[in-house]
Amino acid sequence: MSCPICGSAVGEPVLVRRGVPVHQNSLVDSERAAREAPRGDIALTACEGCGFVFNAAFDERLLRYGEDYENSQDWSGVFERYLDEHVANLGVRGSRIVEVGCGKGRFLRKLVLADPGNRGWGFDPSYLGPDEDLDGRLQFRREFFTSAADIAPEVLVCRHVIEHVAEPVALLRLIKVPRVRVFFETPCFEWIMRGAVFWDVFYEHCNYFTASSLRSAFEIAGYSVSADRHVFGGQYLWLEATTIEPRSGRTMDAGEIPARARAFAARIHAYQERMRERLGRYDGPVALWGAGAKGVTFANVLDPDRRLLRCIVDINQRKHGKFVPGTGHEIVAPEQLGPLGVRHVIVMNPNYSGEIAAQAAALGLRLDIHTAEASECA
Ligand SMILES: [Zn+2]
Repeated sequence: MSCPICGSAVGEPVLVRRGVPVHQNSLVDSERAAREAPRGDIALTACEGCGFVFNAAFDERLLRYGEDYENSQDWSGVFERYLDEHVANLGVRGSRIVEVGCGKGRFLRKLVLADPGNRGWGFDPSYLGPDEDLDGRLQFRREFFTSAADIAPEVLVCRHVIEHVAEPVALLRLIKVPRVRVFFETPCFEWIMRGAVFWDVFYEHCNYFTASSLRSAFEIAGYSVSADRHVFGGQYLWLEATTIEPRSGRTMDAGEIPARARAFAARIHAYQERMRERLGRYDGPVALWGAGAKGVTFANVLDPDRRLLRCIVDINQRKHGKFVPGTGHEIVAPEQLGPLGVRHVIVMNPNYSGEIAAQAAALGLRLDIHTAEASECA
């Protein structure tokens, strides 16, 4: 087995999880279908050459990103403000913009609306909605991106895609067009390691980048990297690169990432055990708040037989009445927590803690709200 970024031979995985659901964000209609959801293995492996961390047991053919794939965070005001700030900071004007993996097109729409001279083309097989909007300034193609030759974009955006593909450098080469600025966003593995966030390692994400390994991937694919930074409270990496400047030199350096990845894997088992004990000690039914990949993974790791968690709550209406792939926990609306007698909720993403407390208060819910910080279990 060799590293998908730099080609170095890699050794034993640092973390193995067998039989996990391959999809975290698919909408499943029944408990039974959720329990029978397709499964795969995770063999998290760290490259000593470039520090890239990936699932060496990943099989791309198991995944289906169709219309029942729902991972939008558009329902949250916190996330909405994050996107607005992003768009304002980017200052894209008078540009032809392509977004690869545009989801429901929320971010692309904001970019196009930011300037009358902007036009946008979104590519995504899970896109739902009209093919055209904003008087034709915004267009969608319900397909995987293959070429932008007919568009000749000046800006190319790709958020939360590269962590899903088995060959990230091939993706970067595929989307490489002449004289383009590219904006990339992907989760940061350093954030996961720092907080021992064991529920942020799951099958849909076969790749786990640090600032350094993401930069290496772009350099190997022939880009010039112009900026990288941490965003969204440190959870995401943001990278800007161009094909306008000559390619930058390679700065490949694994640093301490492989050693830190091994330490992360070694300590999360104890954290998981203590978290499970904690869930069992609460006085009254417990729910998770957030049925995205984090919540689905947390439920699958800690409560595969549904003894500890009553349900999972989410504000995304498309998820209500659906079931968690793997475990079959029901996904409910916040209004249902009262009738279900839920007394405690565990917030899956700390960025939403304030928002969730406000929503619970507005509904008059009598709840104790906890964050799922693994460090509390140390
Ligand atoms: Zn490597």
